[in-house]
This record gives sequence, C-alpha cells and structure tokens, in this order.
Amino acid sequence: MLERLREIEAETLKQLESIEDRGALHRLESATIGKKGEITGILRSIGQLPPEERPAVGQLANEVKRRLEAAFAEREEYLRQQELARSLESGAIDVTLPGRPVPTGRLHPITRTLREIYAIWAEMGFQIYRSREVEEDEVNFTLLNMPPHHPARDMWDTFYTTTEGVLLRTHTSPGQIHVMREYAPEPIRVILPGMVYRYEQITARSEIQFNQVEGLAVGHSIHMSDLKGTMAAFARRLYGADRRVRFRCSHFPFTEPSMEVDVECILCDGEGCNVCKHTGWLEIAGAGMVHPVVLKNGGYDPAVYSGFAFGMGVERITMLRHGIEDIRYFWGNDLRFLEQF
Ligand SMILES: [Zn+2]
Repeated sequence: MLERLREIEAETLKQLESIEDRGALHRLESATIGKKGEITGILRSIGQLPPEERPAVGQLANEVKRRLEAAFAEREEYLRQQELARSLESGAIDVTLPGRPVPTGRLHPITRTLREIYAIWAEMGFQIYRSREVEEDEVNFTLLNMPPHHPARDMWDTFYTTTEGVLLRTHTSPGQIHVMREYAPEPIRVILPGMVYRYEQITARSEIQFNQVEGLAVGHSIHMSDLKGTMAAFARRLYGADRRVRFRCSHFPFTEPSMEVDVECILCDGEGCNVCKHTGWLEIAGAGMVHPVVLKNGGYDPAVYSGFAFGMGVERITMLRHGIEDIRYFWGNDLRFLEQF
C-alpha cells in the first residue's frame, strides 16, 4: 500500500508537468485526490488494514494528498497565467474598432421653451420672481378675489395637504400677491414661472401638473393699450414677426376687464386645420387689467395704481410649436420622445 501511494505521487507529478489545459488538469485531480480519487479511496479503506499498518499508511496518504493538492494548485496558476499572456498577445488593441458612444444629455423641451420665454420678457424689462408651489388657500383663492364658495373655485380643484388651508397652487397667480406685498408701493414688472397642480383626470390634453408663466406689471397709468401692445409684441417674438394677433373678451375673477389672446395658427397660417379647430386662431394666453380688489390685497391703492396681468401654459405652447399631440409625453420620461429635442 505504501508502495502504491508513492507510485501515484510520482506518476501524477510527472503527468502534471505535461498538462497544458485546465480540463485535463481537473480530470487528473478528480482521479487522484477528488472525492472518488484513488488516494481518497485508500484513506477511506484504512480501517480494513491490519492495525499495525494503519498509522504508516494513513500518515503517508495524507502527506501525498497535501503535496498533490499543492502541485495541482501551482499548475493551475501556471496555466492561468499562460492563458492570460496568450489572450493579451492575440488581443492587442484593435484601433479599427468604433468607439463607444458617450450619451450626452440635453435640456427638456419644456425647459427650452421656458428659457425662450424668459429671454423675450427680459428684453421687455420683466424680471423673474419665484413663488412657492405649496400655497395657502387664502393666497391661491381668497386674495385673488375668489372668497370661499366662489363658483370659480370649482374650475380649479387641486391637491390638499394634511394641514388645513394648505394646498398645491392651482395657478401661478398667487405669486402676484407675494410680489406685490414684497415691493409695494414700488412699480413692478415681473414674470412668475413655475409648476402648478390640478386634481384632474389625466388625458392627452390635461395633466395633474404643468408649467405656467404669469406676468404682472403694476405702476402709474398702466392701461389696457399697454397690455395689448405688450402681448402682441411677445406673440410676434415667439411665433414670428408677421403673425396676426387678436384679443377676445373673457372673464377671470382676478382681472377686470379680462381677455384671451389668440395668435394666427402657426400650423396652417390661418387657413384652418385640425389643431386650430378650423378657426385659423390659437389661444395662447389669458390676460387682463389687475382687479382693484387684488391690487388692494397686494398693498396698492387702486385709485392711484393700475396694472395688467397675463398667464400662459408652457406645455401648450410647446405642443403647438412642435405638433405634439399628447401632453403626457412631457412627464413620461420616455427617451424616445425626449431625444427628439
Ligand atoms: Zn390651424
């Protein structure tokens, strides 16, 4: 038995020297020191030997097993290094491979429209005033001439917080109150951009959140003609210098008189199409002279001061300009949509 162990060791070490692949190495390993290997078998059968032979055989078998384990590990490491060297040699850098594209980010289409709008109003002397999105009921409605139970509140359902009287603003108009109270009695020329919220069913035409840009001018001797001229100048800057603009009577609780601003349809040039519902006109903003109650709530005496205000939907403007048919694309985070801008 001792003789056989020495034989196995010598033979295995000899074979190991010529083994060149790891598959053969593992086969030899299991044939000798693996679970069903010969040396393992010898170790298991020691109990059947005459008692006086057992210590010597056990000792040698364990020694041989340890030495072979070390030899297998050494050969395996050697083969691994060989493989690595070969793959490095054959895989020298291929300079003809195309590079991996680095994805570049871009601005969201709404951000781009917003920046264009900011630039136009900035040239007309309007500063940006940031107002909070979480608002008090009083500022969102009451101070804008919509006391509790006013029917106009039904048009603007929103999301309420667990604090009574605190909600997500339904429009950017409460910013008018904040900016007036901060600057009264100084003259004001600001735009108030930002996200607004509505508790509505989400469809292709309505979302629960969207951007508005509100505008406010307060001072001495500001008239309806100033509002009309300003809105026309803005519309022509955004939609083209020869666009016709028209004003229609409307109603808002916080302006008096109130109007809608239409621009000649940019898709059909006023001929009539699906987008303009065959009228040739697109509604782009609501506007009006600031209601005396709102001026007073902002800290201005309506007998001395007057002002105009307007508001527009940024998603709507972007949809019209790019022929986008579904407002849900803007917040869907779908790169196939966003990468087109
Ligand atoms: Zn049209």
